[in-house]
Amino acid sequence: MPLKSESLLVYFFGVATMGLVMSMICVVVPPVRLYLAKIYKIYADYTPIIYPSDDQLTPVSKRRLNLVGKKTLVLDMDETLMTSWMKKHGKDPKNRPTIPHDFKFYLPEYGATVFVYKRPYLDHFLDRVSKWYDLTVFTAGVEAYASPILDFLDRGRGILTKRLYRHDCIDVFGLRAKYVTLASPDLSNVLLLDNSSTECSFNAGNSIHIKSYQIGSRDEALINLLPFLDALRFTKDVRSVLQRCTRFEGLTTFLERVTQ
Ligand SMILES: [Mg+2]
Repeated sequence: MPLKSESLLVYFFGVATMGLVMSMICVVVPPVRLYLAKIYKIYADYTPIIYPSDDQLTPVSKRRLNLVGKKTLVLDMDETLMTSWMKKHGKDPKNRPTIPHDFKFYLPEYGATVFVYKRPYLDHFLDRVSKWYDLTVFTAGVEAYASPILDFLDRGRGILTKRLYRHDCIDVFGLRAKYVTLASPDLSNVLLLDNSSTECSFNAGNSIHIKSYQIGSRDEALINLLPFLDALRFTKDVRSVLQRCTRFEGLTTFLERVTQ
């Protein structure tokens, strides 16, 4: 019996050590890490994670939606829906991502090729929220850069046709503020989804902060937001929920500093 216990112990520590070594190899060796990133990207793009596509509502829920009206969801673009990097003509930058891009185009104004990486589950996310909300994309990027990307993300569905660009931002002490009232003047019925806490601060009470998407990262932020956005469309005033969710202190601190 003691011999059997020892064998089990050796077996257990053997498996644990092998697991530890394999994990370290995956983290430390870049090709292995990139290979795993590719696998994850394929998995995220094609795994059928299903959020009910047919909006089957009870008569009470339908009546509720009629009462509160359809809301406007303002979507930031960079690091919220996708991430990109630019390759200037004749230059090969360091830290170039090696996982496959989803889309690329040439931007003559910058003399650079732009490589676009969609956030995982983006298509599924847009399919769902476009049925619940009127969508508007509000980006601080210039139109020449953002427009081809949004055409690609739209995939001919006609759901990302309302767009606001850098020239629609308002300068606040050097910061480009994206006020959601430009998309919809009724603050009870408009909300912003943005990775920038500063932009969320400009729209405190009407914003949802999402973590920045980094190329190749394991990311389920969009898919995890669906139940919350599904519920929020039934509220009479989005601020009744969003005002209590988050406080953004960064902008207050910045404005205090520049106005002193
Ligand atoms: Mg952004």
